Amino acid sequence: MPWHPPDSAERLAPWAAVEASSRGRQHVEEAHAYRGEFQRDRDRIVHSSAFRRLVYKTQVFVNHEGDHYRTRLTHSLEVAQIGRTVSACLGLNEQLVEAICLAHDLGHTPFGHAGQDALNECMQDCGGFEHNLQSLRVVDELEDKYADFPGLNLTFETREGILKHCSKRNARELGELGERFLNRGQPSLEAQLANIADEIAYNNHDVDDGLRAGLLTEAELDDVDLFEDQHRAVKAASPSISRRALIHEIVRGMINEVVTDLIDTSRAALDKHEPANIETVRQASQPMIRLSRPVLARHKALKKFLNQSLYRHERVLEMSGRAAEVVRGLFGVYMNDLNAMPAPHARRAEHATIEQGDHGRARAVADYVAGMTDRYALAAFGRLIGRAPEIEMQTTNERETDAA
Ligand code: MG
Repeated sequence: MPWHPPDSAERLAPWAAVEASSRGRQHVEEAHAYRGEFQRDRDRIVHSSAFRRLVYKTQVFVNHEGDHYRTRLTHSLEVAQIGRTVSACLGLNEQLVEAICLAHDLGHTPFGHAGQDALNECMQDCGGFEHNLQSLRVVDELEDKYADFPGLNLTFETREGILKHCSKRNARELGELGERFLNRGQPSLEAQLANIADEIAYNNHDVDDGLRAGLLTEAELDDVDLFEDQHRAVKAASPSISRRALIHEIVRGMINEVVTDLIDTSRAALDKHEPANIETVRQASQPMIRLSRPVLARHKALKKFLNQSLYRHERVLEMSGRAAEVVRGLFGVYMNDLNAMPAPHARRAEHATIEQGDHGRARAVADYVAGMTDRYALAAFGRLIGRAPEIEMQTTNERETDAA
């Protein structure tokens, strides 16, 4: 009898995702001797090539601008950290939460949102490009690791969590996984949690990175209540604190406030509705993992501020324009000449062209471009098109080489 580490039904609340009620994998596999199914999902994600590439992909700041900025990889780890903390407090399945958090950005293009928008434009007549759907393509089809199936063959619950958003048009093509977008159902609580942990993580670390880069100032951020309250409290408690520690203490305080509210509010919602199991959760009219109204308003005000002041900062936009040029350039070159891609990608694209015409060809090229890291894309551009545009944002910060 193989020893099976419990995703331990005893520790889990009735509303948690458990293996016993899992909708399973697309390709049936035997149980592992000592690892649970969601644990196997997480391990497959960590061992995937797409996961390793996240370290060289931009979150907001381009990878080579400094060693202390978040990358997609460190972002994903921070999301998982928040997710696991909350999960333990709500009796959710921590391994599933972690798997979803670590996989949620696998489909991101190089150069952050600028890259995704450019690729979406390139794909306009061929079904568009959406990073959420792409994350699912990575785990369902693109990873080439196993003898018996394409992709990572993850459980339904992990895939359900990865697919955060989806248009109705795409949902219709996704079968069981797309159903909730058509019937207005909810995903598991673990998926709901991963979604909000993502927002909490980037809202807060983008403040930290924005201040570090000198694109934001404490004075500007004092217009945001969530920031200002923590700023005042830290200053009052430690008047002679260093700027670096001040920023860290503020960000720490903001995360703590929002996460504590998330736990309390979700706990109250779960106690009130007492969902009997994951199916009851899926049929609910609204998510039960949520913030209270006042904290949601504070959280949204910060998000709005970042949208206006950081993501649309002229220096970020300037860099985005150059990044878009790289992505568009590469897409165009490969569409004209599939053999400009490495042989396995070229073969895949030729096959897709025969099977599905121009749409198939474009999708295969988009898969290749989306999988690139920032530096790989710049090198390819340099090789195929010419001198790559300087993608380095002028930051006014101390060029940090110390270990702070
Ligand atoms: Mg994310």
